[in-house]
Amino acid sequence: MITVFNPADGSVVGETPLMAAEEVAAAINRTCEAFPAWSAKPAKERSDRLRRWYDLVRADRRVFAELMVKENGKCLTEALGEIEYGLGFIEWYAEEAKRVNGETLPSHAPDASVLVMKEPVGPTAAITPWNFPFMMIARKVATALAAGCTMVIKPAEETPLTAWKLLEYAREAGIPQGVFEMVTGDPKAIGEAFTSDERIRKISFTGSTRVGKLLASNCGAQLKKMTLELGGNAPFIVFDDATLTDAVNGLVSAKLRNSGQVCISPNRIFVQEGIYEDFVAQLTTAVAKISVDQGMQDEFVVGPLINQQAVEKVTSLVSDAISQGATVRLGGKLADRGGLFYQPTILCDMRDSFAMHNTEIFGPVFALYRFKTEEEAIRRANNTEYGLVSYAWTTDLGRAFRLSRSLEAGMVIINSGSVGTASVPFGGIKHSGYGREGGHYGIEEYVQVKYVLMAGQQR
Ligand code: NAP
Repeated sequence: MITVFNPADGSVVGETPLMAAEEVAAAINRTCEAFPAWSAKPAKERSDRLRRWYDLVRADRRVFAELMVKENGKCLTEALGEIEYGLGFIEWYAEEAKRVNGETLPSHAPDASVLVMKEPVGPTAAITPWNFPFMMIARKVATALAAGCTMVIKPAEETPLTAWKLLEYAREAGIPQGVFEMVTGDPKAIGEAFTSDERIRKISFTGSTRVGKLLASNCGAQLKKMTLELGGNAPFIVFDDATLTDAVNGLVSAKLRNSGQVCISPNRIFVQEGIYEDFVAQLTTAVAKISVDQGMQDEFVVGPLINQQAVEKVTSLVSDAISQGATVRLGGKLADRGGLFYQPTILCDMRDSFAMHNTEIFGPVFALYRFKTEEEAIRRANNTEYGLVSYAWTTDLGRAFRLSRSLEAGMVIINSGSVGTASVPFGGIKHSGYGREGGHYGIEEYVQVKYVLMAGQQR
């Protein structure tokens, strides 16, 4: 068994099996064997089961939220927010299952009809990270099942308990063995079992760019379809003409969500020189009011980082920046309560040559860079191998449109710090991956197009 610890106090929350190769193979077999019957079901029946899953989980959302606080460390309000977000996908895809429409095209021959059919790609597999233990599973499984695919999931080692609970509720909702399976254990061996099995026709992965590339190269051997939601290095650009208070509030909520351990977390905050000092002052006042604490309470608090490695990474990035001339306006070290808690930190006078500019911080650190012109901001924002999301704040409509075209990212968010919801295409470009999750784009990733020519219709 693998023990699951509470990052807030190190206590044991539960355990998950360290499955042997035969157990993983058995789960993959069940996923493959269940595909013909599940894909043949009328869309309405698949939809009804997803809807039932949604209803059962919603009724017990507090149970899920408390479990997530314990295994992930995020606070209760955030956990409940994540559950709403994740449930949104189950609801959306329960509805979308009924709308995977094909097409008839104008025929190129007088005695023929041209049909375009959409079919589920086949049995699928998914691997998920620890930072959204509920939403990641709900989003991937609901999309796959709605399309008529079956799916085997490997959740993250740190947060498998929420995943097992989702599976338990899925069974109760009539989603049978094989249609949704789960495995836990050695990630490398499980990844290899998924990628090397010819019968698995698609893999959806959310996690680091390093592991994403490894899986993609293994999938290449079989030309397996993939969705890759990988790392980010989001710029957050605030122009002189922005509404300052809104920009500060948007930044604080986007940055401190999950203690900064989010792929879309603003990583590089570019502030135009005319408002720089005012912005820093307002930001410091806002962040100083937020407490660092364990999450089992109704108030929003900044929780612990996920593990000791995460603490060491943030500590080293901050000390590197300080040693090269960054100035600390707030925080800058571990919280007084110790453990895995890091103080919300504001660093000014950041430079693009620092390691933090090119690395996902994954901690509650606001790194502020000063800029002069729009062209400069765009050039520096795009100066990264990643391309997940870019945020910008401006009241100039022309500039907002220019930014939406020039920023190299799968998602451009103007005048908001909030990105995700079930109806929109979430995903990146460049080293942040490919494929989209959410909305009607999400389900397209699980279907293949078949062109059918019905010729010979002359009497
Ligand atoms: P990670 O190390 O890549 O782990 C993610 C998942 O991959 C976990 O389930 C992990 O298993 C598994 N894994 C690790 N090594 C593997 C291997 N060799 N073969 C197959 N699977 C393997 O990422 P993380 O540090 O947990 O998560 C943070 C990263 O995810 C960040 O880069 C973040 O930006 C990214 N992320 C992206 C999005 C997005 O939508 N773009 C969303 C959230 C997070 P174990 O847990 O068992 O090690």
